[in-house]
Amino acid sequence: MAVHYRTQGLILEKNDLREADRLFAIYTEDFGKLKVLGKSVRKIKSKLRGGMELFYLSEVEFIQGKTFKTLTDAILIENFKNIRGDLKKLKIAYQIIGVSNQLIKGEERDLKIWELFSDIFNKLNNNWSLRFDYQSLIYYYFLWNLLSLLGYRPQLYQCIICQGKLNPANLYFSSKGGGLVCKTCSGKEKYSQRTNPDVVKILRIILKEDFTTLSRLKIDRIHEKLLKDISNDYLKQILNK
Ligand SMILES: [Zn+2]
Repeated sequence: MAVHYRTQGLILEKNDLREADRLFAIYTEDFGKLKVLGKSVRKIKSKLRGGMELFYLSEVEFIQGKTFKTLTDAILIENFKNIRGDLKKLKIAYQIIGVSNQLIKGEERDLKIWELFSDIFNKLNNNWSLRFDYQSLIYYYFLWNLLSLLGYRPQLYQCIICQGKLNPANLYFSSKGGGLVCKTCSGKEKYSQRTNPDVVKILRIILKEDFTTLSRLKIDRIHEKLLKDISNDYLKQILNK
C-alpha cells in the first residue's frame, strides 16, 4: 500500500496537463518545494479543487508514484482574501511566487523559508492601510531575505575586495562580487556600480528583518527606482549562475 504524506503547503504554480489534470508546485512545511500531480483536478466534481488555487495555504496529502507525486487530499486553511481583493497586493503576491519559482529548485525542507512565506503573506493580508511605497517594500523584503536564506546574502558592511571600511559618500555595488566595494577597489571590480547610501541603508534594514523600522521609512520614487534596479540586477546575476 502506498504511504500517504500529509503537510501544509503554499501553492506556487499550477499548470494544466492532459485533459483534466494539473501539475502543481507547492512549497511545503515538511518537504520544501514539491511538484505534485492533481488527477482530474479540473473537473467540477473534484474534491481537490477547493484547496488548490495559487497562493492558497492548504493542508495537502499525496502519495509517491513512479513518476509523480499524486495529490490525494487538499484542504484550504487560508486563502488570503484581503490580498485577492486588492490589485496592488495581488501583483506583489504574484511577484513573490514568481521569483520563488525561479529561485527555489530542489526538494529540500527549510523551515526558515517556510516561515518567510508565512510571515510575508500574513503581513500582506493583514496590513490594510499600506502606503504605496511600503507595499512594494514587502516584495523587496521577501526577495532579499529569500536570497539570503538561499546562500546569497550580500556583504554590505565592508568592501568585498580589500575588506576595508566603507565611506558612505562613495559606495559601489557589485552584483557579480556579491556586495559593496570601496572607491579605491571600484576600479579593479569592473562590474561595480556607484550606489546610493540610502538604498544601502534600506537593504541593511531589510536583511536585519527589521520590519518595524522598515515600515516607518519614507521612501520616495527615486529611492524606490534605485532599489528596484539594484534588486533586479542582483537577481539577474544569481539566476545566470
Ligand atoms: Zn576596497
